[in-house]
Amino acid sequence: MNDAALRAWRVALGDANVSTDAAALRAAARATFSTHATIPAILRPVDTAQVGAVLRIAADHAAPVYPVSRGRNWGFGSRVPAADGCALLDLSRMDRIVEFDDRLAYAVLEPGVTFTQLHDFLRAQRASCFMPRIGGPADASVIGNTLERGDAASAYGDRPAHVCNLEVVLAGGEIVRTGYGRFPGAAAAHTSRYGVGPALDGLFFQSNLGVVTRMTAWLQPVPKALGQFTGRIAGTEALAAFVDALRPLALEETVRPNTLGIWNFFKLAGLVGRTAALDAVPREAWHFSGTLHAASVQLAAGGLLRAASLRGSSVHWQQRIVENPEEVWDEHFRPSDLNVGSTYWRKASRPARDLDPDRDGCGVLWLCPEFPLDGALVASAIGELEAVVARHGFEPNLGLVLSGARSMRAYLALMYDRDVAGEDARALACHDEALEAMSRRGILSYRLGLHSMQTLAPSAALRVLKDVLDPKRVIAPGRYE
Ligand SMILES: Cc1cc2nc3c(=O)[nH]c(=O)nc-3n(C[C@H](O)[C@H](O)[C@H](O)COP(=O)(O)OP(=O)(O)OC[C@H]3O[C@@H](n4cnc5c(N)ncnc54)[C@H](O)[C@@H]3O)c2cc1C
Repeated sequence: MNDAALRAWRVALGDANVSTDAAALRAAARATFSTHATIPAILRPVDTAQVGAVLRIAADHAAPVYPVSRGRNWGFGSRVPAADGCALLDLSRMDRIVEFDDRLAYAVLEPGVTFTQLHDFLRAQRASCFMPRIGGPADASVIGNTLERGDAASAYGDRPAHVCNLEVVLAGGEIVRTGYGRFPGAAAAHTSRYGVGPALDGLFFQSNLGVVTRMTAWLQPVPKALGQFTGRIAGTEALAAFVDALRPLALEETVRPNTLGIWNFFKLAGLVGRTAALDAVPREAWHFSGTLHAASVQLAAGGLLRAASLRGSSVHWQQRIVENPEEVWDEHFRPSDLNVGSTYWRKASRPARDLDPDRDGCGVLWLCPEFPLDGALVASAIGELEAVVARHGFEPNLGLVLSGARSMRAYLALMYDRDVAGEDARALACHDEALEAMSRRGILSYRLGLHSMQTLAPSAALRVLKDVLDPKRVIAPGRYE
């Protein structure tokens, strides 16, 4: 380790907030698949000024850091840096909800704020708006998730599309704000995305050009009525007709992005565990569900009726309208670790609480290809993914989400037991073949992990930006470069 940097960080943060404890470093370097980077220190700043100090020291001593907000990036690399020898810049102590405006439905957050924390805060405030819950770890960071362009099953589920006014510390310690936030006293700083002039905030998603220390998150109004639909698609071939029937509804926004999810048998099985009830579920079927948020029961019902005209073969519809919005807080908005349980799919047992796939040797590798909304293309690519995974002896745990009016994302999760010798290498080989198969079709992944980051073709524009903003390469070298 760079001793001079370590000494300077200790002065800046205090001894208690610079850890070189061997067990803590080992735990932080562990993910849900095999990784190689070592972490020489964990730094825990408490505010933006300390983040600036950490970065200035990093630049002075050529000692790189890797920022994480909560570090629950399970299946993508957890807390492990993209390059060897980076100190972990753990922002979890910066966990203040700085401001909340119920009328305009936004909250200003620091990186340590978790989904559960924000949910509990809004509930306590009897807020008229909510943060769409994450399908993954309830104690993940709202900012960390958003910076990865994370998503949720809700009309505000495209997280980066529902934030503004980022506060970012650059490698030289300068603090920049995006949108109107760069103009002191700007009235629309929290409510308007772009401000005036070039929009800079896009530079800081899936990037390594700065450390985000604050963000305004837009909250979704609690619906006065909530309509849900569920259904079943006969098999992967029928999926093509379903996607084609969905396309016009998506384009006209009757079904909005992120409000419709489709999943296969293995995703369902991962969720509910290996129970006898699964025997009744046909293995080849796909299932889907969605939610329509509307201002009134009539509107929701109308939307449901139109959505129910989807023609995908063997589709069965159920409809439900919840008339009392109070009911939905716990049922639909509260974050839970239900999905995280699926990472124990091949383990002999799963703990009742405090799930931690890193610690418990749960193997998880994600592959997240994105498709245009073209039924034949989606169904044949999904068919190929299923075949690759089956050939390698894993279960094809697959979900699909309508990611835009014209696009759809797939989530392939390879879940395995890291404690079985050779499984890490076998799962990675399967992942790599699946990724390669998609690349051959021109289908790229919308989000990468440490296991796939190296496949990203270098970008000359990004290199130029990095040269200017972080010439000493101290922020997350290797991340999305
Ligand atoms: C079963 C399961 C289900 C999941 N479901 C979902 C889901 O529904 N939706 C979803 O999006 N993800 C999901 N995930 C993936 C993942 O767990 C989440 O995306 C999670 O939010 C990421 O962890 P985090 O929020 O703690 O972010 P972090 O791990 O803190 O951050 C992620 C990355 O962003 C960068 N970063 C973080 N904070 C900063 C910062 N302040 N400044 C600069 N860079 C920063 C870092 O490089 C970091 O590695 C799921 C995972 C599993 C295992």
